Amino acid sequence: MASTAAAPAITSTSAASLPEINHWVSGKKVPGTSGRFSDVFNPATGHAQARVPLATDAEVDAAIASAVAAFPEWSNWPPLRRARVMFRFREIFESRMDELAAVITSEHGKVFSDAKGECTRGLENIEFATGIPQMLKGEFTEQVGTGIDAYSVRQPLGVVAGITPFNFPAMVPMWMAPMALACGNCFILKPSERDPSAALLIASWLKEAGLPDGVFSVVHGDKTSVDRLLEHPDVKAVSFVGSTPIAEYVYATGTKHGKRVQALGGAKNHMIVMPDADLDQAADALVGAAYGSAGERCMAISVAVTVGKETADNLLDKLKSRIADLRIGNGAPSSEKEPDLGPLVTSQHLARVEGYIDLGKTEGAELLVDGRTAALPAGDGFFLGACLFDHVKPEMKIYKEEIFGPVLGIVRTNTFETALELINEHEFGNGTSIFTRDGDTARDFARRVQAGMVGINVPIPVPMAFHSFGGWKRSLFGDHSIYGPEGMRFYTRIKTVTARWPTGIRTGVDTTMPTLG
Ligand code: NAD
Repeated sequence: MASTAAAPAITSTSAASLPEINHWVSGKKVPGTSGRFSDVFNPATGHAQARVPLATDAEVDAAIASAVAAFPEWSNWPPLRRARVMFRFREIFESRMDELAAVITSEHGKVFSDAKGECTRGLENIEFATGIPQMLKGEFTEQVGTGIDAYSVRQPLGVVAGITPFNFPAMVPMWMAPMALACGNCFILKPSERDPSAALLIASWLKEAGLPDGVFSVVHGDKTSVDRLLEHPDVKAVSFVGSTPIAEYVYATGTKHGKRVQALGGAKNHMIVMPDADLDQAADALVGAAYGSAGERCMAISVAVTVGKETADNLLDKLKSRIADLRIGNGAPSSEKEPDLGPLVTSQHLARVEGYIDLGKTEGAELLVDGRTAALPAGDGFFLGACLFDHVKPEMKIYKEEIFGPVLGIVRTNTFETALELINEHEFGNGTSIFTRDGDTARDFARRVQAGMVGINVPIPVPMAFHSFGGWKRSLFGDHSIYGPEGMRFYTRIKTVTARWPTGIRTGVDTTMPTLG
């Protein structure tokens, strides 16, 4: 998750007997031909349940070729007609959301209600894309010179690609594809190989909604297929969401090949808790934001910065009692009460997060709650309970690096200024929040903090679909945030026409037989 070298495919000796997931090209499922596979696990059982093929250059090229062929007709459809596909897709997506959420839970591990929440945030982006005729309206200036008018229009780019992370297998593709398609582009999705099945459901629903074949494709793969998308001359733009080292690599490689690139990376989101905050509200918010989805959210809060000793001590008491009540288990839909946290995505990721717990202790932070000793389900699932560190210091690796698991660190400060400085000096700047009752402090925080998304008494300030999402600093490479108005700008380019119509064309009524010459 942190290197630009090709990640080893996860294979198992039983691989050949597992069901095989397909690519989606030219409007239908296509089996992989590379002979290379990655196992897809059910993280709650710890067992492989399918295998996903890793595409070759030729397979990526075939998807690009079908998109190139589909582009002239699709981009020529009136925006209203494209919007109607999005309206039908929206209906299908909403009515079958349970099916999608169950697939997400089985491959990602997040609990079913959380998977439905992800789908709902994805749905909002489809809904926004249905308004494309309004958004694509251009600008017109009459009489820029005598007898001359000028107008600007936005046209699609052509074939664009989306490369997505494991942690939101439906929502992040919906940050990209509905807007790209509504603008008139053809879209190739390269989903995470950890949880690839949501992408196939989405592809089949788009077809059912009336999307012409070739306009949306899914190619599974690893570094090989990503590199091919980044280098291929017919791919005009790339949207990437994932870890910072890969985001930086995708940005550098894609732009070197002349593409437009938006590459969203990792995070270390801080929440400041001021002495005047409602500490019950802050503790509830922190537990949800730090441990929900087992901490595998780019907008998870992983650092709480307390202002004042009393604030820290009181907050910790409230956190510890809430953490003790968290239930960890298999989040698949069932008649039993749903657990609060599911497993981590893979055994490798679990081992990595556990490595940070040991590292934090070595670095001198105080481990108040060790999630490894929580009541965890029996079996081979990749479970870890909520972990809480006190006395985390800015020079520690557990402070500097993204852990991406259910691990919250408390950094104690004495002033608002020190707390703000910590956030502003961190290499990441995705989201942040402050809990306070003081409007002046909150306003000052929002104005001066160096992060792209800011919450005031809101722990996870993910913007709605009609705004745009994006971090600052090493949390985003490129000029455009994703989805919303910024998404529309990313997936289109401006053309400005200056027109003069000479006089003398209007000759008036002529009743004689028209002749040439
Ligand atoms: P990742 O970077 O490992 O993988 C993301 C995508 O890149 C996947 O499709 C993967 O197949 C591909 N990839 C992996 N290694 C590659 C390589 N060497 N060369 C080319 N492509 C490669 O990320 P992940 O583990 O799937 O997701 C978790 C990360 O994503 C976290 O860092 C999280 O913060 C980040 N994330 C960020 C946002 C955001 O909006 N900023 C949102 C969600 C997740």
